[in-house]
Amino acid sequence: MKIPELLAPAGNKEKAVVAMEYGADAIYLAGKAFGMRAKAGNFSADELKEVLELAKERGVKVYVTVNTYPRNEEMDQLPAYLQELEELEVDALIVADVGVFALARQYAPSIPVHLSTQANTVNYQAAKFWEELGFSRLVLARELSREEIARVRQETGLELEVFVHGAMCVAYSGRCLLSNVLAGRDANRGECAQSCRWRYAVVEEKRPGEYMPIEEDEGGTHIFNSKDLRLIEYIPDLVRMGVDSLKIEGRMKSAYYVATVVRAYRQALDLYAQDPAGYKLPPELLDELDKVSHRPYWAGFFAPTDAGIHRPSSAYIQTHEVVGVVESYDEARGEAVVGVRNRLPLGAEVEVMQPRASIVKAVISRLTRVEPEEELETAHANFKVRIPMEQVKPYSMLRMKVD
Ligand code: SF4
Repeated sequence: MKIPELLAPAGNKEKAVVAMEYGADAIYLAGKAFGMRAKAGNFSADELKEVLELAKERGVKVYVTVNTYPRNEEMDQLPAYLQELEELEVDALIVADVGVFALARQYAPSIPVHLSTQANTVNYQAAKFWEELGFSRLVLARELSREEIARVRQETGLELEVFVHGAMCVAYSGRCLLSNVLAGRDANRGECAQSCRWRYAVVEEKRPGEYMPIEEDEGGTHIFNSKDLRLIEYIPDLVRMGVDSLKIEGRMKSAYYVATVVRAYRQALDLYAQDPAGYKLPPELLDELDKVSHRPYWAGFFAPTDAGIHRPSSAYIQTHEVVGVVESYDEARGEAVVGVRNRLPLGAEVEVMQPRASIVKAVISRLTRVEPEEELETAHANFKVRIPMEQVKPYSMLRMKVD
């Protein structure tokens, strides 16, 4: 039995390190160009080098997305970029366009190439075709059912990567012009404004400005709006099917989101690996996934239900929010040095979520600002503070219940 790798998004260096600390086997990220998720932060060559070194030390793989559909003039810039990635020895390229693939074979010949989900592979014949062409892995379209994935598995030797968690599109992943037309932001270049989640009304041609509501409920109508994907309950199926990689969506999501989701899936995978026959998903892992910002979850097309994809509100929900990230621990003083992310008052009850360790509870009994040194009643975002607590690991996240 092979346990699939856990693949996490890394929108910037902090998120990359957090993903590794919390148990990802591999991370995916983009350089400053050609990488979808244009607003995710992304990596310069130097930053990429740094992250690659950290990843190598930890045995974590790094995949670089080059999965936009570039136009002619952009193609001219690709060879130099691909050569740079070859020299950096990244573990794989994620590519959607066959022109980019051709250049990757020429300018980065030693790097395996994964076919991006943007290429929308939905059947085994297409999978075989990509395999013969030289791709080593297929990132399957999110629109496939469990049975369809199993058939692709039987028919090809390609590694298969499946999205298991995160936002979904109502269009075939990114193949949508809504955001481009309505906001001038191109989903095919990673700039989607999620226009599908907006609230829509009807306007009669001769009465501009008069919005006639189309109501599903008092919240309005969000006709294209999707729930979020969650497949943690299906880990045994995914392992048995022989899927190679479980992918978490979200290079735009926060470091706290990455930490929480990676940690939950890591725990589930490790528990399953220890005892497949006796495995049962601990319900607290489902609670964990509710502690990050999300829309109501469903199992996507993997295991569709009558409840369907549609979410009649664009609001996000979460039971907890992050208030600080532990930067270091001062053993002599028994204090954590914390970078504050959200308002943190004295006396607050917090949960401290640690990488690869249990969650501990703490009450904030003192808040000492580091610079200038002063005692605080309340710490605010971007403050650095010292907080007395039991020893905790760097990159631990302090979170508070949302009222
Ligand atoms: S607007 Fe919605 S459906 Fe279109 S690409 Fe963006 S998330 Fe997908």
